[in-house]
Amino acid sequence: MGTVRTAVVIGGGIGGTVTAMALARAGIEATVHEAHPGGADGVGAMLSLAPNGLAALRIVGAEEAVRAVGHPVPGVVMADGAGNRLAEFHGFPGLPATHAMARADLHRALTEQALAQGVKIEYGRRLVGAEEDLDGVTAVFADGGTAHADVLIGADGIRSTVRTLIDPAAPGPEYAGVLGFGGLVAEDVTPAERGTMYFAFGRSFIGWWRLPDGQVCWFASLPRTEPLTWAEVQRIPAEQWLARLRERYADHVPGERLLAHTAPDTLMATGPMERMPSVPHWHRGRLVLVGDAVHAPSSSSGQGASLAVESAVELARCLRDLPDHATAFGAYERLRRSRVELIGGNAAATNRAKAGQAGPPALPSPEQMFGPVHRHHIDWHAAVPGEAQ
Ligand SMILES: Cc1cc2nc3c(=O)[nH]c(=O)nc-3n(C[C@H](O)[C@H](O)[C@H](O)COP(=O)(O)OP(=O)(O)OC[C@H]3O[C@@H](n4cnc5c(N)ncnc54)[C@H](O)[C@@H]3O)c2cc1C
Repeated sequence: MGTVRTAVVIGGGIGGTVTAMALARAGIEATVHEAHPGGADGVGAMLSLAPNGLAALRIVGAEEAVRAVGHPVPGVVMADGAGNRLAEFHGFPGLPATHAMARADLHRALTEQALAQGVKIEYGRRLVGAEEDLDGVTAVFADGGTAHADVLIGADGIRSTVRTLIDPAAPGPEYAGVLGFGGLVAEDVTPAERGTMYFAFGRSFIGWWRLPDGQVCWFASLPRTEPLTWAEVQRIPAEQWLARLRERYADHVPGERLLAHTAPDTLMATGPMERMPSVPHWHRGRLVLVGDAVHAPSSSSGQGASLAVESAVELARCLRDLPDHATAFGAYERLRRSRVELIGGNAAATNRAKAGQAGPPALPSPEQMFGPVHRHHIDWHAAVPGEAQ
């Protein structure tokens, strides 16, 4: 049984809310401190929760609430950008279907679940520093306020402040060489069976699926050597981005048609695609990282939210079972590092292809591609061993 009783969680995004719910199940009282003044309604585009992420959400009692704001997309079709199907796959029997949803809806569902489970969330609390003493750690916020607890958990996203408090020399996000875009098409211009995600490679990559309202949602990217910030991308009118995308996807099947039928007011410019390279120090003293702060795999993986949820649950399990925070943080890193770095590395290879720095990826079988990632199972009731196994 662990000795940690209280936690300050920095960041009320996907990983932070789930961490607090998992800690509560481990007997640890956590308060979430979020920099923004309120929720995140309308912020962000679409993302997906894969079977492994949904299974981890079941442990904190949030799977049903999350499924309810998404729609199932268990199937995958891979194509070559010239109109030929290369492979198809209809999900794994016994595993929940991948669900797609708006990031804002996922965020709202998890926040409501956390509040219903008694988690306290304080808004307008931007962490700027942390001071450790013999019996805990004090978080210091930009508003001059403080909060004290046994441990401080950084769930503060890809530009994490906690990461640099742990290690001022920690790497920052790595630009993947492409800008991300999405859009909506109302007409039937390409096959898109409900419940199937399509990926077409070739000189350029585009993915798409059908939304519950019948529209087709696509996601694509534009290679660009020098990154633009999200704000810089927003300053360029949607018509200009669409023109560049149409040029890039000329002769691509079905990219050319999807882009031709996209109205500018449906264009979503999601900004530079980024991932976290390997972070040397996941924890120091009473500080530890979870989610994008330590292992953002980039949206090409389809695993950012799912891995954040898995790590949140595993961190709580380690703090529940191991005698002190240092042992728990060591075990947590051993449980998580190789998995998240493998998935992030695979996404980096896909990103190089999207950026035109490499040819289309070799196509593995669906079992090779999704099996080990989607089948991952966390046994919440099993005790975590303390020593390296
Ligand atoms: C606004 C927003 C929109 C997004 N949209 C998409 C999307 O469309 N598609 C997609 O695939 N992924 C998106 N993501 C990323 C996705 O949510 C993550 O990859 C994944 O869910 C992992 O979640 P996380 O909790 O680790 O990080 P995040 O979801 O990024 O949450 C981090 C939280 O920490 C807060 N925070 C940051 N710094 C501080 C600080 N110093 N003090 C206190 N709080 C702090 C942030 O405000 C944020 O709420 C988005 C993230 C954000 C923040």
